[in-house]
Amino acid sequence: MKSIILIAAPQAGKGTEAAILKKQFNMPHISTGDLLRDARNDGSERAKIIAKHQDEGSLVPFEIVMELLKERIMAPDCENGYILDGFPRDIKQAEAYQEILNETGKELGIVIVINIDKEVGISRVVGRLSCPECKAIYNINSDIEELLPKVEGICNKCGATLVKRNDDTEETYIDRYNTYLEKTAPLIDYYEKYGVVKYVDGNKGIEHTHNQIMKILGELDD
Ligand code: AMP
Repeated sequence: MKSIILIAAPQAGKGTEAAILKKQFNMPHISTGDLLRDARNDGSERAKIIAKHQDEGSLVPFEIVMELLKERIMAPDCENGYILDGFPRDIKQAEAYQEILNETGKELGIVIVINIDKEVGISRVVGRLSCPECKAIYNINSDIEELLPKVEGICNKCGATLVKRNDDTEETYIDRYNTYLEKTAPLIDYYEKYGVVKYVDGNKGIEHTHNQIMKILGELDD
């Protein structure tokens, strides 16, 4: 299977898709957010820098991200492709990644862009509830049964009272959505030049999104 770079609007279902693809194709799912979270606890100077940037929500310095990413994709389990989530975040990272691919003889693979309308994203984010005890996530505006609490406001798994995150508001969502449009558009243009971009509509839920991705993967001449 070719490597897949996932680019998605906030609330488009990127994490869910990555998890399904990982299971279905037995491919490593590489989230740079997770790589950085793992690396921020080793007591080093680098760990302090990562923690500072992650806590502020700003981009971790380029050299640190590239070092961790390169090390991860060179691991034996990545030999036959992997799913990239959260990387590249900008053109500088995309260009450096291209150099690594050229150096190592790895293939770029495909870029899947999952788009949703702003209104759909808002409805997903304002309906989100999470369990403070077992961390399960729910969504009262979802069409997926597992995401709906069976008893209003109560966690299906552990019975705790569900809470709403302070930043799950329409205003915060619109900010994140606009940032996505502004920051990722250049990245999509960059990959369009390689002819590897495929677009998926994420408005109609997980199954619809996944079916489109499966169709794209089925049409690849791998
Ligand atoms: P995420 O889990 O993708 O939401 O990322 C969480 C945080 O990790 C971000 O707010 C950044 O601080 C950092 N991060 C994740 N991926 C990258 C990346 N490709 N480049 C720089 N910082 C990143």
